[in-house]
Amino acid sequence: MSYIRDQVVVLKKMSIREWDRQYFLYGKEHGLLYAVARGAMKLSAKQASQLEPFTFADVMIAKGRAYDHLAVAVRGKANKRFNAVGAYAVAGAFSDLCLKLLKPGVADERIYRLWEELAGILAQFKVEISPVRAQMVFSAVSLRLLDLLGYGPYFRACAHCGQVTGPTEVYYAPDRNGLICVDCRPSVTEALIRVPAHAMNLMQFLRSASLTDVMRVTAQVDLIETVIVMTREICKHAPLDREPHGFRSIAELITNHQAPITN
Ligand SMILES: [Zn+2]
Repeated sequence: MSYIRDQVVVLKKMSIREWDRQYFLYGKEHGLLYAVARGAMKLSAKQASQLEPFTFADVMIAKGRAYDHLAVAVRGKANKRFNAVGAYAVAGAFSDLCLKLLKPGVADERIYRLWEELAGILAQFKVEISPVRAQMVFSAVSLRLLDLLGYGPYFRACAHCGQVTGPTEVYYAPDRNGLICVDCRPSVTEALIRVPAHAMNLMQFLRSASLTDVMRVTAQVDLIETVIVMTREICKHAPLDREPHGFRSIAELITNHQAPITN
């Protein structure tokens, strides 16, 4: 029997049959991995507890004919404890996006590193984080993933005239996943989203800055919301069968959790 060893982040776990669990993992060296732990006897309770979603672990997986079998799991060093429901909401949303976009057999260590970076930031989330800030972090990490996979937007020049766009406002063209400059706007008939210069700067910052720096951003809520709207449109250029649920679920989870109990 052949084995693979890897450092992984747990994206999701699912119960299958009474005692078995299926794990969806992203490995530093092997990329997306599916592995089944058969029965409580096979994986000790201690090992299983080290494989909760969004934890990091060192695993050994036995390659099987029907499915791969999780043989050993040891908690990794990169683990961080989350304190806020917003942290679980963002991690869950990003896990959903990863599972929809990534395919087994294609490894990219940068995606594993992105998860390490994200987990470090989510551990710093305070309980009272606002939905819009949590969505901004989700937008930033989603844009970084889309850029790594080649689905990111092209913002260097106007998609109509090819000129570098000006320092003032521009327009995002969802159909082209690119920009239209102020001069070209009257001659373009497709739907456009107006993007003030500050929103464009914020957008480019989210794509290129570390998540630590993203957490330090102070910006007006309407600018952040413009960037979130653009990110939702940009996601439509990735091969997704439906919109990533994070743009809805993060706000719902945080708002419901923070709502005072009245009865
Ligand atoms: Zn133009």
